[in-house]
Amino acid sequence: MEQIWKDLYQAAKAVQNPREISERIYAGGVAAAIESESGKIYTGVCVDTSSSLGICAERNAMFNMITNGENAIRRVLAIMPDGKTGAPCGACREFMTQLMMGRYHEVEIMIDYEQEKILTLDQLTPEWWL
Ligand SMILES: [Zn+2]
Repeated sequence: MEQIWKDLYQAAKAVQNPREISERIYAGGVAAAIESESGKIYTGVCVDTSSSLGICAERNAMFNMITNGENAIRRVLAIMPDGKTGAPCGACREFMTQLMMGRYHEVEIMIDYEQEKILTLDQLTPEWWL
């Protein structure tokens, strides 16, 4: 496995911290790390709320990257509450596609860290509408 995937896993693991933020907000059960085009790693955790005000870990990590002045991603890894990596939800796939217009097929996503199963975004969701 390439070192960057190990770095992404460690970065996500470091911020995974499931906890109740308030009576209506639970966060940190899922943690994500992304590698930006510059090679930097950005992390984010899921924030679950009432009235669907929260955000997935993957998009939170991408928002972190955007906040820090970058615009493009290379790799995405998310650790689920059970400790295994998993695929992003439909909303995150859509966001990644809109972020990486014309290049989303290059985005690599860790599906199963233990099995070293990696898919590109277009393999994960073929026949995109964009
Ligand atoms: Zn999502």
